[in-house]
Amino acid sequence: DLLIEGVGKRFGDVVALDHVSLQVAQGELLTILGPSGSGKTTLLKVVAGFETPDAGRVTVGGVEITALPPAKRDIGMVFQNYALFPHLSVAANVAFPLEMRNVAKPEIERRVAEALAMVELKGYEARLPRQLSGGQQQRVALARAIVFNPRLLLLDEPFGALDRKLRETMQLEVRRLQRRLGLTTIFITHDQEEALVLSDRIAVMNRGTIQQIATTTEIYERPANDFVADFVGESN
Ligand code: ATP
Repeated sequence: DLLIEGVGKRFGDVVALDHVSLQVAQGELLTILGPSGSGKTTLLKVVAGFETPDAGRVTVGGVEITALPPAKRDIGMVFQNYALFPHLSVAANVAFPLEMRNVAKPEIERRVAEALAMVELKGYEARLPRQLSGGQQQRVALARAIVFNPRLLLLDEPFGALDRKLRETMQLEVRRLQRRLGLTTIFITHDQEEALVLSDRIAVMNRGTIQQIATTTEIYERPANDFVADFVGESN
């Protein structure tokens, strides 16, 4: 459903993306794994529309979106420090993307209630973000990312700030929701265990290129090159 073809991006002398191509199937969860600076976030920003690529194109459901502004792309996003609006209640935070899209009020109320139920935050509607735990805040961010039925969900180290136990809970939560909604998802992490738990397939990146894209088993059993072998072998 998502097709990235020959995407290149430079920042001065730095080649952040070196003609990256990949495809993510409808309902698939693809994890991008790679060291710091390998281009993971830049790739997501190109897909989201926050960076314009120097070359290549991005297509969703057969429609090219390379030149569309972010707000027209129908993409839900959660980033590590993707702050909620601090002065808005939980319900107002989740309603925000619907208001941007001029959805009618009764429909907004219905969808916000549904999204909050999905992340198990019924009863928290009136709270402010600072009155929530870190995990609860990330669940609100997740509800806000899925409330408008996005075509794509992009998650960039969304649980980086959480402690281990909460992180594991959130991983399962994301997996469950993603499956239930059949959401085409790209998940960035540098945590291999997280990649193992979540992924249908894993793309390993280094220096702006995809070194291998395959199922978890294939990556571990048949690494395509020394870089992949070293990178996934580190913790063994
Ligand atoms: P991390 O795991 O540390 O978040 P990453 O794999 O997401 O790293 P990117 O953030 O995509 O890596 O960065 C890829 C390269 O592009 C890095 O060398 C980075 O310094 C550079 N880069 C990214 N954004 C910019 C920018 N706006 N201006 C200049 N250089 C940038």
